[in-house]
Formats: sequence, structure tokens, C-alpha cells
Amino acid sequence: MTRVSIVGAGPGSADLITLRGARALASAAVVLHDALVDPALREMAPLAEWIDVGKRGFCDSTAQTRINALLVQHARAGGHVVRLKGGDPSVFGRLDEELEALAEAGIACEVIPGVTAAIAAAADLKRPLTRRGSGRSVALSTAMTRAGQLVATRGADTEVFYMAGRQLAALSRRLVAAGWPPETPVAVVSRAGWPDQHGSDHCVDTLAQAVVLHGGRPTVVIVGVGATALPAAASSPTDTASLPPVVAGSKP
Ligand code: SAH
Repeated sequence: MTRVSIVGAGPGSADLITLRGARALASAAVVLHDALVDPALREMAPLAEWIDVGKRGFCDSTAQTRINALLVQHARAGGHVVRLKGGDPSVFGRLDEELEALAEAGIACEVIPGVTAAIAAAADLKRPLTRRGSGRSVALSTAMTRAGQLVATRGADTEVFYMAGRQLAALSRRLVAAGWPPETPVAVVSRAGWPDQHGSDHCVDTLAQAVVLHGGRPTVVIVGVGATALPAAASSPTDTASLPPVVAGSKP
């Protein structure tokens, strides 16, 4: 019997969770959730005990080992435990560590996928990450190494960087150093999947200008083919009302 469901909540609004994820929530006795998940998800498990185990940015408020221990402890108590994670659990979600902890404890579990931030951002912008004939590959990369170093790569036609929102100026320089031409299109999307999602257009060498538009919000940076607006699409990168104008020097 599955005692733990590790569920991707999607990147934003509660309705982006899968039906399977919602069903798991409906049968949960305990929900261990990340900080960024939509509070409206609580309505899907009103009787469960909700425990916030979120870590934000660099302040590791609840260490991963503590989360692993809580997972095992609550599963052993007998009820169905849902570990609710932002986006998809297998994308920068430390899923490996939680799976190992559960396996070591001999606890059966399942993983229920979710919409990862890059996919929600592509949907918000209406810009496919792959393009027939020009965009054959997509890479999801973290801009931060485990040691806190900022790195950039050029490994795919479209590269989506997570966890770079605080260091866009440095990322711009690293992208040039990694071989991306300075005029390469870059789309920055923050709070993808939320009603206040926000997108802006830049180039690799003007990326630093995005800081003022997205500061303090969870952000992905799409570089390359997938950042290019479709010729027929509206020039605005987002449909959300009351956005600041696209910054000077950015591409239409
Ligand atoms: N498992 C998550 C990623 C967790 S890592 C997923 O699949 O989406 C946290 C990083 O994800 C953030 O630093 C940010 O880069 C990105 N992120 C999370 N939610 C986001 C959102 N709604 N919009 C844009 N980026 C987001």
C-alpha cells in the first residue's frame, strides 16, 4: 500500500495540479508542503494536517534531513502522507533525497508529476520551447551550483535557467562566456502560472535590465529559440494587465 505520495503541485494556481494529485490530496491525513504552493490547495484536503516545510532562497529554514525525517515519521503513524512540492517533484525538487529516505525506511511511495515552471512559462508566453526545424532540444538548468556558484551553459537550442532571479546581471555575463551571441533572445518569466505572472523580453547582453521587473519573485530565464516570439503572436510577452512596459533595449 502506498503510504506516501510525492505530488507536484504545479508552479502556481491550484488548478494546475493534476487530477491524480488532487485525488491524492483528498485522501491525505498529513500534507507536508513547500512554501510556494497555492494556499487554495488546502480546499482539496480540508481535514488533513498541513505542515509547512518550505525552504526559501538561500535561508534553509527547514533542513532537508528534517523533511526526510518528518516524511518517515508521519508515514509510520499510519495515515496517507502527501509530500506536496512546487512544480514537478523531479525538477530541482530534491526528490532523490526523499526517495532514498523512504526506501531506507522501507516505506512504499509513488510520485505524481506536476507542471514544471519552464512549461508554465512557455504557456504564459505562448512560446513553444521546441520549434520544428530550429529548436530540437530543451535543457532545464539550475544557474546555481550546490556550492552557490553561478554557472551558465549552452547545451541546447532552448535553455531554461531556474534559480537565477537574483543574479541576472551575472548570468548575462556567464551566458556570453558560455558562447551565446549577445543578441540571442531571452525571455524572463516570474510567477509563471499565477494570475500575476509577468514576462519580459531581453537579449543575452541586456538581461540585467530584467532585475527591476522581476526582483523578489520566482523566475525562470528562457534563452535561445524558445524565447523568440512567434511572428503572428502579439508583441507583448504577457497578457497580464498593468505590467510595466518592456524595458528599453529589449526585443519586441
Ligand atoms: N520543482 C520546481 C522547481 C523548484 S526550484 C518546478 O518544477 O518548477 C525553485 C526555482 O523554480 C525558482 O528559483 C525559480 O527559478 C523556479 N520557479 C518556481 N516557481 C516558479 C514560477 N511560478 N515562475 C517562475 N519560476 C518559478
